[in-house]
Amino acid sequence: MKKDIRSYGYEELQTELEHLGEKKFRSRQIYEWLHVKLADTFDDMTNLSLKLRERLKEEYEIYPVEMAQRQISALDGTNKFLFRLGDGNMVESVLMKYRHGISVCISSQAGCRMGCVFCASTIGGLTRNLTASEMLGQIYRIQKIAGERVSNVVVMGTGEPLDNYDNFIKFIRILTDEHGLNISQRNVTVSTCGIAPRILDLAEEDLHITLALSLHGPTQEKRRRLMPIAGKYELPEVLAACDAYFEKTGRRVTFEYSLVHGVNDNDEDAEELAAILKPRNCHLNLIPVNPVRERDFVRPSRENALNFKNKLEKSGINVTIRREMGSDIDGACGQLRRRHAENEMTTEEI
Ligand code: SAH
Repeated sequence: MKKDIRSYGYEELQTELEHLGEKKFRSRQIYEWLHVKLADTFDDMTNLSLKLRERLKEEYEIYPVEMAQRQISALDGTNKFLFRLGDGNMVESVLMKYRHGISVCISSQAGCRMGCVFCASTIGGLTRNLTASEMLGQIYRIQKIAGERVSNVVVMGTGEPLDNYDNFIKFIRILTDEHGLNISQRNVTVSTCGIAPRILDLAEEDLHITLALSLHGPTQEKRRRLMPIAGKYELPEVLAACDAYFEKTGRRVTFEYSLVHGVNDNDEDAEELAAILKPRNCHLNLIPVNPVRERDFVRPSRENALNFKNKLEKSGINVTIRREMGSDIDGACGQLRRRHAENEMTTEEI
């Protein structure tokens, strides 16, 4: 397999290309082609000599992230993409348009092995980790298609980013490097199911990204029912890791809570949740569960969800209900990829 040139950081690429006898400015040019001009091939790199381009092709590859399918919401302009990777694996990404710019949600793994019971991404298990280049590639492809600068990135698609830690960190460093797309770290959010030791590692990386913790249950017992990983990293340990993240980075943690009717949305749940969050400087994001075809979870009514929100607000918690984007094209998280896997596509393939 050829070396994955888009996964090298700025300085790493300089060191890497030294063995080709190339000067620093060449490496700078190549980095710019990859991460600013978003080149898909070495032939695009027209200010390099033909000879150098051929050398690069022999040893390296820009691993592809190609559009296989695109759905555009008629309601709010949200785009859902299915991308094909070099080895034929499929991943999905979402582009959301907000007043303040374009936000992209990317996948960090093909599949997932965390097993959360309401989530479609985990149904087929984990196929493989994505490389830094493949995470970047989703954003670069979308930016090229949209013709507009991506301003926010959330790692909330398929996969558990902290289960793919090294590639994920490389990805964040390249994404936010001033020599590349230079996205502000403050505009990047990573969502995790709560791999406590990796949260502690992340706190030490000197990054200023937002940490979102998938909480979903207000007690160890209730959380464990929805998230098998909670059996390994119990609630007190996970919360302590989040506290450490806040202390180290000064970044307020977001807690995500998928409201599942009859499972975690009654008054007692709201009280227990408030008790956890009250002492913390945090934000709570309520997500009415997206029904997944393979599972029979039901979302609460709008009224129930608002009630739940009000209860928490009264306890002084900073809380929002996630605005639903692209509900006409959506299907729950991970369902586009899943449907493709089942070969039941209703939309035309590109
Ligand atoms: N593995 C990471 C990121 C992926 S999912 C994590 O667990 O956080 C992003 C968020 O969507 C998580 O909070 C996840 O629990 C939630 N989610 C997954 N499937 C969902 C569904 N069907 N309805 C509502 N939220 C869902």
